[in-house]
Amino acid sequence: MLWFRRDLRLGDHAALLAAAQRSRDVLAVFVLDEALLKPSGPVRRTFLYRSLRALEEQLDGRLLVLRGDPAAELRKAAAQVGADSVHISADAGPYGRERDERVAKTLAGNGIELVRTGSPYAVTPGRVRKGDGTPFKVFTPFRRAWAEHGWRPPADTDASTVDWITAKGGVRVPADEDLGEISLPAAGERAATEAWESFVDERVADYADRRDRPAVDGTSRMSAYLRWGQLHPRTLLADLARHTGQGAETYRSELAWREFYADVLWHRPETARQNYDRRFDQIDHDTDDELFAAWCAGRTGFPIVDAGMRQLLAEGWMHNRVRMITASFLVKDLHQPWWRGARHFMRHLVDGDLASNQHGWQWTAGCGTDAAPYFRVFNPTTQGEKFDPDGDYVRRYVPELRGVPGKGVHKPVGVPGYPEPIVDHKHEREVALARYGATRG
Ligand code: FAD
Repeated sequence: MLWFRRDLRLGDHAALLAAAQRSRDVLAVFVLDEALLKPSGPVRRTFLYRSLRALEEQLDGRLLVLRGDPAAELRKAAAQVGADSVHISADAGPYGRERDERVAKTLAGNGIELVRTGSPYAVTPGRVRKGDGTPFKVFTPFRRAWAEHGWRPPADTDASTVDWITAKGGVRVPADEDLGEISLPAAGERAATEAWESFVDERVADYADRRDRPAVDGTSRMSAYLRWGQLHPRTLLADLARHTGQGAETYRSELAWREFYADVLWHRPETARQNYDRRFDQIDHDTDDELFAAWCAGRTGFPIVDAGMRQLLAEGWMHNRVRMITASFLVKDLHQPWWRGARHFMRHLVDGDLASNQHGWQWTAGCGTDAAPYFRVFNPTTQGEKFDPDGDYVRRYVPELRGVPGKGVHKPVGVPGYPEPIVDHKHEREVALARYGATRG
């Protein structure tokens, strides 16, 4: 039996290979688990449902979709087809690890083995360590050690060597939820592969120069596909190895961030909710609901922040540079706790991933893995002018400002319908530095 989770593909699939080696007859299963569906939000749930439909099609309809407690559902399905093993790609997140332990116990009690092969990462979290065996706390040395450790070539999975069998008791993949105007990228392994091939053939060379410009299509948009494992990062790394130049090098480094944060969360699962640097537990937070609501709705009066927050609501995605700017604004200009913003992001992002999101937030807040960043306070206006120099990004997402030409859009004055700045950045910067300074004693 093969239990799909964050690996919704048939290519480069080590667990599929392991299942096929054990038996030619394989039952493909996905379990709709309420504990994961509930916090996902309509965008991510809908993307998942579309991904499952795409996988079902690849399997000629032979995907058994179950709903309920994974341990109980898998035990019943395995008993029905007489399976003696359930194959998975290992999960590195706090919930997934605990769930898999529970499932392994239940299955073992019924004489069935849970077999973990591979993970959603090029290097399984927990493997790359310092010389003394302790985990890395800083990205750059991690990335060096990660590259030295290396990874296997893509697994040569040939789904035609498998006879996909069927079983009773499945449910239909749920219908899409009402997303209003939001249009999501096409889901599924084929769509992911096409998007990746067009990026790596046509745009990776310019990636290093264009990735920080939110107005241009300079990044790969692979995050949702990686989130659901519609491509394995090993596949991407193997393709990148055929390219020389700064673009491919920078892209590899971005994939290393994803691996780093998964590694950090693997060693410190409590950091999904708590400060990585516990000194920050002392910091004084504000929780003004009106200011928070203005941030969520993209009505702060800071154009780059508003454009980003509205892109999130309109597309279920936000450009990386703008994720940093909006996160910094919530934490350092509004002095709100990072986890409040992280929760909003997780509810709306199609690529919402606990490790990358919570640690992206912690990095921005200064309580994460970075060396000494607490005094780094982004100025939202100069960030806007620097990374959106023509103002096109802001005008795309903030219609009230469409009449303001050029970079002047970052300093609007008295534009009807557009809010005045909800705070004074210069003042709030001082407040943030004072509060942060107090935690250093
Ligand atoms: P590209 O620039 O094309 O990068 C390629 C891939 O590298 C990405 O798909 C992603 O898998 C990885 N990557 C790139 N940058 C980062 C990074 N800083 N951290 C970790 N991985 C990275 N990424 C998520 O996948 N899910 C999240 O929930 C998420 N939340 C974030 C929250 C904050 C506050 C910040 C600052 C960053 C967050 N990121 C998250 C990282 C990054 O913003 C997205 O991965 C990226 O914007 C996705 O777009 P892309 O695929 O076009 O990226």
